[in-house]
Amino acid sequence: MQFHHHGYVSGDPRVLRAAGTGIDRPAELPEEMDVLIVGSGPAGMLLAAQLSMFPSLTTRLVERRAGRLEIGQADGIQARSVETFQAFGFAERIVAEAYWLTAMNFWAPDPQNPSHIVRGQRTKDDPHGISEFKHLIVNQARVLDYFAEYAANGPARVRPDFGWEFVGLEVGTEGEYPVSVTLRRSAGDDEGTERIVRAKYVVGCDGARSRVREAIGRKHIGAHAQHAWGVMDILAETDFPDIRTKCAIQSHEHGSILHIPREGGYLFRMYVDLGEVPEGDNGAVRQTSLEQIVAQANRIMNPYTLEVRDVAWHSVYEVGHRVTDKFDDVPVELTGRQDPRVFIAGDACHTHSAKAGQGMNVSMQDGFNLGWKLAQVLEGRSPASLLSTYSAERQVIAQNLIDFDREWSSMMARKPEEFDSPDALAQFYVDTAEFPAGFMTQYAPSILIGTDEHQALAAGFPIGKRFKSAHAMRIGDANPVHLGHHHRADGRWRIYAFADAPAAGQPSALGEWAEWMATSPDSPVATFTPAGADVDSVFDVKVVYQQTLDGVEFGDVPEIFRPRVGPFAVIDYEKVYAVDADQPDIFDERGIDRGGCLVVVRPDQYVAHILPLTARDELTRFFAGSMLAQQDLAAAS
Ligand code: FAD
Repeated sequence: MQFHHHGYVSGDPRVLRAAGTGIDRPAELPEEMDVLIVGSGPAGMLLAAQLSMFPSLTTRLVERRAGRLEIGQADGIQARSVETFQAFGFAERIVAEAYWLTAMNFWAPDPQNPSHIVRGQRTKDDPHGISEFKHLIVNQARVLDYFAEYAANGPARVRPDFGWEFVGLEVGTEGEYPVSVTLRRSAGDDEGTERIVRAKYVVGCDGARSRVREAIGRKHIGAHAQHAWGVMDILAETDFPDIRTKCAIQSHEHGSILHIPREGGYLFRMYVDLGEVPEGDNGAVRQTSLEQIVAQANRIMNPYTLEVRDVAWHSVYEVGHRVTDKFDDVPVELTGRQDPRVFIAGDACHTHSAKAGQGMNVSMQDGFNLGWKLAQVLEGRSPASLLSTYSAERQVIAQNLIDFDREWSSMMARKPEEFDSPDALAQFYVDTAEFPAGFMTQYAPSILIGTDEHQALAAGFPIGKRFKSAHAMRIGDANPVHLGHHHRADGRWRIYAFADAPAAGQPSALGEWAEWMATSPDSPVATFTPAGADVDSVFDVKVVYQQTLDGVEFGDVPEIFRPRVGPFAVIDYEKVYAVDADQPDIFDERGIDRGGCLVVVRPDQYVAHILPLTARDELTRFFAGSMLAQQDLAAAS
């Protein structure tokens, strides 16, 4: 964690100094705002946390509930989300309080006595070592708490405005704040009172029954069939031996249970399958009582029994496989010719079963994808057309998720005798582990994702996928670190320059590139960094040498990698890395060419491009596809 460079920080360094709109932020909702977020679920809260880093923007979040979510809803946190929490600075704390999911056991009917279940396969949760981060189980309410803390501690001091319900909106064509939004008080003494506010952009993170989606006329497409589970978070007495291990339990005649141990060591959650909801059910399934759910669980688990002692939360969770036709307000035929003003994220645009544990995770990634783009546009660093990439990128991901989830759900719904082999379900789980862990997302080439001509220079960083961290040695303080864990959710792009290793006396490609990057008026730093801002405020440029610690002298490192930052122009010592002698060599581990290369990483941690160290125009041209030259703007103003 880096701080003190703007002057001594005596308190918690996570509480950043208030700036801009964060100073004397009005408690009342203002008339006009840059971004209005609707809904404080995982999508909305991540977005608020990201935008809290931009104090030049007025960001407000309205939430219908009177206060924080206290209990219930999702609890599965995939490793990609923990990686994201790392960028928001709270991974360590949430890992400490969560349940660590390391294994999943599969139970099925005993072939000798099908009315009894027996343990079949035991599987490791991450058999291929996809991530160094853990797979966690922790309640959604705690995830929201951490994002809320981050948002409140950001320089813009963003806090949810509870007790406001979104009623409707109109997108105008005139003025700086073209979206008029009608809100109604949903809590407090003035409940029922309506207000109209205006925003530049509105993001509907208002869940599966999204009114924002309705207001922009988007269609929620997919099967009407809903699937229902009785969900209960309970303390219980049981003789079931795997009660502290995640299990898929299939009975012969009574359906299945997805069993999930919860944080804290005692509580656990059971999803008891209530099956497909017939058309015309009209919510009857939601009347399933807790007693009925417990009785069904006991039937499925036979010969084991479950005696419930306390129920923390229970619900009937009913959901279908649906994706919205587009995730913004621009009609399909006008895409590319009109810029969006309203977006939808999370369950508002995709819903799926709880079995693959994806809802909260994918929703957070929607927010992460959109947040930095909104900031770049609103700060005048990118054209508004950048915002069209949100729907283009995330809709494909949502569709992939629905397809995966449909396959997984139908596998789990099958009777054991319908499988070719008794281990088929467990094998599917292991083979597809990268998907539910959140690492299969790969964005297609666009203005934000380069083409793959130079992919071979860094085969282990697939373009379009998230930057997979590796061990490195930080030179300044001789600290062994994970390179990617220093990627903060601060809206900056990262450029990792992997050094070449020229023979003594030979020119170094890294040195020449670094000189150009620091001094050329055509470099991305000179072209896209706003006047007066720190040299690393848009591009956080880091170097990784092929030598180990003793082979690199900090004073010899080119200046672009040890910039002077903050009002006191002090050197940043944390951008220079080497191979960690006690760990696998990062060059070998990630397939980095020994001639060196550049790995460009987006603010949301996805690899945007791989280029050789000789790339000059190509690098600037790549950024010019989505950014505005700041000198031109300064000259024009
Ligand atoms: P949400 O978390 O749904 O958040 C939407 C927010 O918007 C809510 O806080 C809501 O109060 C607010 N809101 C809605 N309408 C308005 C409005 N008009 N004006 C202002 N605010 C509004 N997933 C699982 O994996 N397992 C589960 O057991 C499970 N149970 C669930 C139970 C319930 C009751 C719900 C609603 C969801 C459940 N989910 C579950 C789904 C999971 O919680 C979601 O996938 C995830 O929360 C999606 O995040 P989100 O930010 O898109 O939306």
